[in-house]
Amino acid sequence: SSSESAPTAPQIFAIANQKGGVGKTTTAINLATALAAVGEKVLLIDLDPQGNASTGLGISRSERSPGSYEFLLGLNPLDASVRATQIPGLDVMPAAGQLAGAEIELIDLERREHRLAESLAAPGNDARHRWTIVLIDCPPSLGLVTLNALVAVDAVLVPLQAEFLALEGIGALGNTIERVKKRLNPRLHIFGVVLTMVDRRMTLSQQVVADVRAHYGELVFGTTIPRNVRIAEAPSHGMPVLIYDNACAGSQAYILLASEFIRRRRIAAEQAIVA
Ligand code: ADP
Ligand code: MG
Repeated sequence: SSSESAPTAPQIFAIANQKGGVGKTTTAINLATALAAVGEKVLLIDLDPQGNASTGLGISRSERSPGSYEFLLGLNPLDASVRATQIPGLDVMPAAGQLAGAEIELIDLERREHRLAESLAAPGNDARHRWTIVLIDCPPSLGLVTLNALVAVDAVLVPLQAEFLALEGIGALGNTIERVKKRLNPRLHIFGVVLTMVDRRMTLSQQVVADVRAHYGELVFGTTIPRNVRIAEAPSHGMPVLIYDNACAGSQAYILLASEFIRRRRIAAEQAIVA
């Protein structure tokens, strides 16, 4: 609107798809790592009670509390809920098993869909001033915890596994995003769709890539993530694949995804100035 107002690129992202095993957590960990490697200050919020993102970043079970459960419910300030990782520029808010209870506990709370948004914006927490990018790894459901993420973020990144029926059920996520946008968070939009576990030698995988591009068009990232055994091995070593084996095809893909991500944010900011 005016030259004095700062450009507004989306800054807080949910990584969401109610289907499990599609690469949400893998994308959260490795995109976060690749973004930190190029100088962004990144916070990864683990909002899945399974805590896979916390495991993948080497946070032991005894170090996960207080974490996202307490923060979501407004029981703890940001500082007490966040840990530094071994990666410079990357912090994590870990998830403990207790988070599973939040789905029920939230039901009776006032402003139950707004809890995470309000915690992130609370005086003294001020997440937008402390990190340049915040990624939220969502659980595989469209329940109240995911709803809290969708209300708190600017945009959604949707990982889709390149397999038969990849688009099955994704309509429910689209409908939820539309509903949240209308009623709870007008700035919400899909930032992009990332195809994961793409097998270049398989015709089926290639067909799915084509179908998803036909369906989502420009929303689909040009970068696809290949199926790569090093990606699957890395979490058991408590490190992102980018640290475990930075030369493998999976790492290279996440580095490319991060640069495409940054390019898209820059374009979004430029469009916001023009608008
Ligand atoms: P989600 O968070 O959506 O449930 P994950 O990221 O945990 O999915 O991935 C599910 C499983 O697939 C994990 O065991 C993970 O290591 C593996 N995986 C994810 N992406 C890839 C990939 N590109 N190549 C090989 N294995 C992958
Ligand atoms: Mg996960």
